[in-house]
Amino acid sequence: MEKSCPFQKQGCGGCSFLGMPYAEQLLKKQARIDALLASFCVPEEIVGMDEPYHYRNKAVLSFSPAPKGRFVSGIFAAGSHQIIPVADCLLQDKQLNEVLAAAADAAAKCHIPVHDEDRGTGLLRHMVARRGAKTGEISLAVVTASPVFPGSRDFTNAVTKACPDIVTVVQNVNSRRTSAVMGDTEKVLFGKGFLTDELCGNRFCISTRAFYQVNPVQTEKLYALALEYAGLTGNETVLDAYCGIGTIALTAAKKAKAVAGVELNAEAVKNARYNAKLNKIKNVVFTCGDAGDVLETAADAGERFDTVFLDPPREGASEKFLKSLIKSAPVRIVYVSCGPETLARDLAFLAKRGYRVGRARPVDMFPHTEHVECVVLLERPHGGNS
Ligand code: SAH
Repeated sequence: MEKSCPFQKQGCGGCSFLGMPYAEQLLKKQARIDALLASFCVPEEIVGMDEPYHYRNKAVLSFSPAPKGRFVSGIFAAGSHQIIPVADCLLQDKQLNEVLAAAADAAAKCHIPVHDEDRGTGLLRHMVARRGAKTGEISLAVVTASPVFPGSRDFTNAVTKACPDIVTVVQNVNSRRTSAVMGDTEKVLFGKGFLTDELCGNRFCISTRAFYQVNPVQTEKLYALALEYAGLTGNETVLDAYCGIGTIALTAAKKAKAVAGVELNAEAVKNARYNAKLNKIKNVVFTCGDAGDVLETAADAGERFDTVFLDPPREGASEKFLKSLIKSAPVRIVYVSCGPETLARDLAFLAKRGYRVGRARPVDMFPHTEHVECVVLLERPHGGNS
């Protein structure tokens, strides 16, 4: 059954496909991937969701000041800084909707002043909540415009009392005039600063600033597909580039000889190293740095990988990374992409240099939005390192 959302008409824009039958959404995404990858292969059928609502394990609530010391909270309208007072978002985990409503209540009761972007006054900008789908643990980040947070103790007490599943509350400071939600400095107000979740049989600690896939049901399908494409036998040396908190690396480690993970975000690398220990996985090493720089250094030093996973941000892989990838000559490359256009661009680069696209399959990680994820297998025609 299709659901409708009253906030869509108000310009929320979070789900541009809402109202379109889900089967039609899938066909549209399939057609987009088929067209983009037409010169490389015939993609397999898109992996859809059985229950495509309330899948998001991360939710952001933004604040702006209103007259008489009040505030409005909700989601920014598409392409603007106007807040739509969204309640019960259809994409977000239901419990997160409740937690954010309770957190906004607590902020009002504790008289936390809301940040005014134009005047540069006030404190509270956003709240970011995440929930481990398997564990039920919730983390809450309170994004403030400056470091001094009067009333933080009262707020933390109120919100953790209202929501006992909150395992950590973190203050994140973002003093820049930017559309990015989070800033670079943090202070733990309650708990350990991270939540724990389970994925593909491993446990993962996830800091508020580290990337974590937003659709846990589809993530397990996505990773299973990536692993299937990789066809690991236990003898391979593997690279997981753009590895985040090590989710793919640690899933692959059980089926490979050794795995190296590379990630730019220092906080995520810290999580990844901790996650290896947590799961008693010893054949993995994580390096913090730009994937292109790290692979270039490794390739120049003659280091080779049999299998490379890469899962870059929407902008795709850098040319430095792709050039170094060619140099390190893996037998198989498994490209996980959330940006179909940059994926097609990068596949063209690799195809020109001898790689052949073996299989490709879109995965619907983001129902009711125009976004689509895709997994692609590339192989070197003659196999083995030469
Ligand atoms: N594979 C992980 C993370 C994918 S998201 C997962 O599935 O959870 C992409 C990751 O690339 C993010 O963690 C981001 O911090 C990281 N990243 C962005 N630019 C990078 C770069 N130049 N070098 C290495 N990692 C980068």
